[in-house]
Amino acid sequence: MRALLLFDIDGTLVSGGPAKKAFHVAMLEVFGTAGPIAGHEFSGKTDPQIARELLRLAGFDDAAIESGLEDLWAVYLAELGTRLPSRPMVPLPGVEELLDRLRADSQVALGLVTGNVEGGARLKLESAGIRADWFPVGAYGSDHEHRNELPGVAIERARRHWRADWVSQDVVVIGDTPRDIACGRAHFTRTVAVATGKVDRRTLMEAGPDLLLESFADVDRALDAICGQPGRA
Ligand SMILES: [Mg+2]
Repeated sequence: MRALLLFDIDGTLVSGGPAKKAFHVAMLEVFGTAGPIAGHEFSGKTDPQIARELLRLAGFDDAAIESGLEDLWAVYLAELGTRLPSRPMVPLPGVEELLDRLRADSQVALGLVTGNVEGGARLKLESAGIRADWFPVGAYGSDHEHRNELPGVAIERARRHWRADWVSQDVVVIGDTPRDIACGRAHFTRTVAVATGKVDRRTLMEAGPDLLLESFADVDRALDAICGQPGRA
């Protein structure tokens, strides 16, 4: 296979939805506080990272945080599942056609690298009409709290799944935040930034992606950027 493409979810494939509200409700139910959630930055972080940051700011120690995380994810996923039908995720422009065309290419392997816990990733994608099994492998916030660890997890799962190997320049990490770019760079993959999340172009450029796209709306250009050889698109 020519390339392993590892997509972020929020701000990259889909937007909107009730996840922040579901997370807030779950934090209140399990920990009695969501800390200073209103002004807190979520973009590009893993779910456990966000929970730990907020709970530390609320005065919790790590042992108290750890002891509640399993319950937190259970309540969060229940809340998310309940709320998504009335406030579904929306696929970002071009995403449906882009995924259709990538899925039709037998030389391309599709995976996820996302800060979402795995159940949340599945719920969000399916809510937007994107089947989770279009991505046979992934690495999730539930695998590791630190995003920089996730591409390695995804690449190892991909090697086992496809019984194929890729040099790092055949792996592409695609996301909407500097944290996506950093986690790809930590594994020497190619990186493609897409400015459809909450981070502006300039900030994304400063993160040093190999390529930056305004969006996936121009699907031909997006395919060339994602699947093309380094420096070609
Ligand atoms: Mg994102």
